Amino acid sequence: MLLEEGLAVIEGGGEAVLGRDDLADCLRRGPSVDEPLFRAASAVLSRTVGPWVFVRGIVEMTNACRKNCYYCGLRSDHSALPRYSMPFEEIAAAIESGWAAGLRSFLLQSGELLGEPHIALVEKVLRWADESWGDSVRMVLSTGELPRAALERLKAAGGGRYLLRIETSDPVLYAKLHPRDGLHRFEERIQCLRNLRKGGWQAGSGVLIGVPWQTEESLAGDLLFLRDFGIDMCGMGPWIEHSGTPLYASRHEAPSRERRVSLTLRMIALLRILMPDINLSATTALQTLTPTGLERGLAAGANVFMPNLTPTRYRLDYNLYEGKTVVPDRIEDVLDRMSARCAAMGRTVVPGEVGDPLHFTKAPPVYSPPGEEGVGDHDDQVH
Ligand code: SAH
Ligand code: SF4
Repeated sequence: MLLEEGLAVIEGGGEAVLGRDDLADCLRRGPSVDEPLFRAASAVLSRTVGPWVFVRGIVEMTNACRKNCYYCGLRSDHSALPRYSMPFEEIAAAIESGWAAGLRSFLLQSGELLGEPHIALVEKVLRWADESWGDSVRMVLSTGELPRAALERLKAAGGGRYLLRIETSDPVLYAKLHPRDGLHRFEERIQCLRNLRKGGWQAGSGVLIGVPWQTEESLAGDLLFLRDFGIDMCGMGPWIEHSGTPLYASRHEAPSRERRVSLTLRMIALLRILMPDINLSATTALQTLTPTGLERGLAAGANVFMPNLTPTRYRLDYNLYEGKTVVPDRIEDVLDRMSARCAAMGRTVVPGEVGDPLHFTKAPPVYSPPGEEGVGDHDDQVH
């Protein structure tokens, strides 16, 4: 079947298998593939996760990191970067500000640190959130590869979701993006993702899109990896240059920024088609490369966005890539603006929903925001 025919079948609710070659072909095509692709993805989205947009408030608790990934501004060799670590009280206050604005899901993100003070701090935050709000809140961690014992401790303290991007499913490309020093091992990263799954976490992953030397075949392999692993959530975004990192020197080997945005949107759409019931976010990196990144990400098939709750004075130092803007905004105002932008495209932001991925719970969503009927009231909207 031709790619366009397959996409039309999917849009109409039928089955069409997109294999590795179709996926790579779709990523390689000119702009004419976008319309049928996004239409198919958006039809899949309406039939499964529906029009709802979940919100996670991000707290970037420390920018210290033991690793040295070639693409990342937080790498330990980036000595020009002032390092900070938020104390418990500030982390709790940031989360409370989100709670007061109606958010019910929070993401703690940081560099990778294995020391006891860091693990104990994450554990303390999780326990505090659990004691304060119990099942009314979902805490998400994105704190790198942690040993199993630490993961068990954090799960027991109230952790439920974990995001660990594999960055690429291609071991050869992985080796080009990371130092060969024993700290950055592809197999260990995958094993950590497996441990998360075995440990009962809602497991999220994702990849970097448009890094130097990455091919469309490699990205197609990423999509198949994510599907075959059976992730519950995904955040994947464009690579953004950072002049303080080794990968900057190879920036001419990467696609243009415009092309990285286009590839990211197509990756989102294809993953929505391959994995209809996962949670998929419109990432900050996508929004950094294009001012309409939120709308374009959602239109391609994303159903999550993550406003930043990190205090303004730390934000610029959480410098994964360049171009991050820091506007001192109240979370209430950010939510209002985002809700209006989503409403303008027929999507409804539901900040008060914990938003467990349907892929994990296998239960249809049943929330009814004020004045709306719940998606769960309509059997025909659920696969
Ligand atoms: N240290 C943890 C979590 C924080 S980094 C970890 O690595 O898992 C979160 C993500 O930021 C990484 O997974 C990576 O995909 C992304 N990232 C790092 N540098 C980036 C860059 N230059 N452009 C875009 N994304 C980047
Ligand atoms: Fe550290 Fe994560 Fe950046 Fe790698 S991507 S250097 S682990 S913060």
